[in-house]
Amino acid sequence: MKKILILGSTGSIGRNALELIRNNRDNYQVIGLSGNRNIDLLKKQIEEFTPKYVCVRYEKDREYLSAEYKNIDFFVGDKGLSEISKYTDYDIILTAVSGSIGIDGTVEAIKREKRIALANKETMVAAGTYINRLLKKYKNTEIIPVDSEHSAIFQSMQGYRKEDIKKLIITASGGTFRGSSLDDLKNVTVEQALKHPNWSMGKKITIDSSTLVNKGLEIIEAHELFQIPYEKIEVIVHPQSIIHSMVEYVDGSIISQMGVPDMKTPILYALTYPQREYNSAIKAMDFSKYTNLTFEKADKEVFRGIDLAYRAGKEGHTMPTVLNAANEVAVDLFLNKKIRFLDIYSIIEEAMDSHKILSLDSEEALKLIKEVDRETRIKVKEKWGR
Ligand code: NDP
Ligand code: MG
Repeated sequence: MKKILILGSTGSIGRNALELIRNNRDNYQVIGLSGNRNIDLLKKQIEEFTPKYVCVRYEKDREYLSAEYKNIDFFVGDKGLSEISKYTDYDIILTAVSGSIGIDGTVEAIKREKRIALANKETMVAAGTYINRLLKKYKNTEIIPVDSEHSAIFQSMQGYRKEDIKKLIITASGGTFRGSSLDDLKNVTVEQALKHPNWSMGKKITIDSSTLVNKGLEIIEAHELFQIPYEKIEVIVHPQSIIHSMVEYVDGSIISQMGVPDMKTPILYALTYPQREYNSAIKAMDFSKYTNLTFEKADKEVFRGIDLAYRAGKEGHTMPTVLNAANEVAVDLFLNKKIRFLDIYSIIEEAMDSHKILSLDSEEALKLIKEVDRETRIKVKEKWGR
C-alpha cells in the first residue's frame, strides 16, 4: 500500500490521479490533498478519499473545512504546501500545482529522499539548477516525470547508456493554432486559445500549448531532468500526439513511447515505476483510428516560445526563472483579457532582455531564484497589467 500526497488534487492532473487511485484502492492510500479555489471539489475528494492532511490556500477555507473534519491536519497557503511536504508521512508526492509555487514542496520532498511524481514542470524550469544540486546531496530521491514527453523519454532511456544518446526528440502537437501566420494570431481570443486539439488540461498549460511556450518549458525541463545539452534536444511537431517523444541513439535507432493521449498513462507510470500496472481508467489504443501518424517542423518564426526557451536555457542561471515568471504573469493577463495573444512573447522577451543574470552557484541559490521570480512578476504586472 503506497501512501500518496497530491499537491493540486483539484486540478486536471490531480483529478486524473485520483481516478486511477479510485480504481485501485488496495494499492494506494491518499494521505494528503491540496486545493486552491475549488473548495467544493476538495470537499468531495476529502469525503471520498479520507486524507489525514489537507492544504488550502486561504485561512477562511481552513476554518470552514476544519470545523467539519476534525481529524484532519490542515495546512495553509504557500507555506502550507511546503509544510505538508516536509512533515507528513507519504511514500510518493505528486506535484500537480500549476506554476513556480510548486518549488518548495518539491524541495522538501527531495530533502526527505521521497519518490516525486513530477507534473509541475515550472519547478524544473525556474529552479532546475538548484534542484539538480540538491539531488546530488539527496541521492535516494527519485524524480519520475509525469509530463508525457518526459515520461516517454524516461521510458525510452530504460536499459540504455546515456553516453549512447545522440539526441532527445520532443514531440509537440503544434497546439490549437498550428499552421497559423503571425497575422492570424494578432486577434485570437482566449476562448479560441483554450481549445486544445488533443489534450484536456488546466488553463495555464493550455495557453502555453497554444503559444508553444509549453514546448519551450519542456526543452528546459528535459535538459534539467536528463542532463542532456541543449544542442542534443530537438522538437518535432506530431499533430496526433500518439508518439509522446523519442530518444535517438548513436547507432541510428530511435526508441519511442506511444499510447493514446491521456495523462493517466504517465501519471500511473510515475506511481508504479519500475513496475507496470493495469488500470481500467486507461483506454487501449485502437490503431484503426490512427492510420496516419505525421511529422513536421515547428514554425519557430511564428511560435517564438521555442527559441526563447533555448536562449533562456543556454544563458542559464536565473534566465529560465525569468522566462517562467514572465510567462506565468503574461498567461494570466491574457486569460483576463488584459493583453493580446502575441504580447505574451513580447513580455517574455522584454523581461529576459532587461534581466542581468545572477549566478546560481552560491548557497543562496533558492533565495535568489525566489527574488528573481518575484521581481519579474512585479515588473511585468506594473507595465502590462493596467
Ligand atoms: P490545473 O490548473 O488544472 O490545476 C492546478 C492545481 O493547482 C489545482 O489543484 C489548483 O487548485 C492548484 N493551484 C493553483 N494555484 C494555486 C496556488 N496559488 N496555491 C495552491 N494551489 C494552487 O493545472 P494542471 O493540472 O493542468 O497542471 C498542473 C501541473 O502539471 C502544471 O505544472 C502543468 O504544467 C503540469 N502538466 C499538466 C498536464 C496536463 O495534462 N494537465 C500535462 C503535463 C504537465 P484549484 O483548482 O482548487 O484552484
Ligand atoms: Mg507535455
